[in-house]
Amino acid sequence: MADATGDTKAQTAEQLWRHYGRQLALPEWGEPAQLRLQHAKVLLIGAGGLGSAVATYLVAAGIGQLDISDGDQVSLSNLQRQFLYGVADLGLAKNRRAQQRLQQLNPQVQIRALPAADPQQLPAWLAAGDYQLVADCCDNQATRLVVNQACLEAQIPLLSAAVSGWQGSVALFDFSCPSSVAERGCYACLYPYATAEDCRQLGILGATAGVVATTQALEALKFLAGLPTPSDSRVLRFDALGQRWRQLARQRDRDCVCCGAYLCMENH
Ligand SMILES: [Zn+2]
Repeated sequence: MADATGDTKAQTAEQLWRHYGRQLALPEWGEPAQLRLQHAKVLLIGAGGLGSAVATYLVAAGIGQLDISDGDQVSLSNLQRQFLYGVADLGLAKNRRAQQRLQQLNPQVQIRALPAADPQQLPAWLAAGDYQLVADCCDNQATRLVVNQACLEAQIPLLSAAVSGWQGSVALFDFSCPSSVAERGCYACLYPYATAEDCRQLGILGATAGVVATTQALEALKFLAGLPTPSDSRVLRFDALGQRWRQLARQRDRDCVCCGAYLCMENH
């Protein structure tokens, strides 16, 4: 682990228990899961409504490294749901402000600020990053499809979430496992086309984004710790008005060009 100055300092068992005692006390978690988490590196795409909560819970729980990709500046309309920022941050770069806020929360975590995920740059980041997981918290379908393709090619697990209006969804795609891809496919199997989706028109309550994001964070933490994650075989769908979660089984779409091409490569 690295502290705020970049120095590596292992916490003693006593420090570990003082800091993370509440989660270490869980029989399913304990020290083995904590150590796995402390060696985990995650790339988070989008430090907005979803990313604020996902980044906060990963950093608070003691992840090893979090790289935050976002190219936007903080605007007033963000503050209703993006709680990493305040009015003093208006006009400032989200990735840097998020990094600074989160570093205060947990100086033990290595946190890096990256620019927006560019389709040309993303494969290089994934090749160099040694990530155990990519958490896609972006706000548009076109980027989700680009991230899906890049993670598939790099064989890095992808935890994708989206929220719009009163609806949200979370799904985990374990691209490090070819049999998982062959059986359950990829994000494009579920949502193959980039559709117009904008919370300026569709509207959103901050608390709805929070429910979906905390579920995404929980699935990320369990996956990194090696615990069961229902979202790796299903898509979890949330209806905020009816206060209902549904778990829908996933199957690969045999016509999906994204994972179809990947499976062809795997078989040659
Ligand atoms: Zn697919």
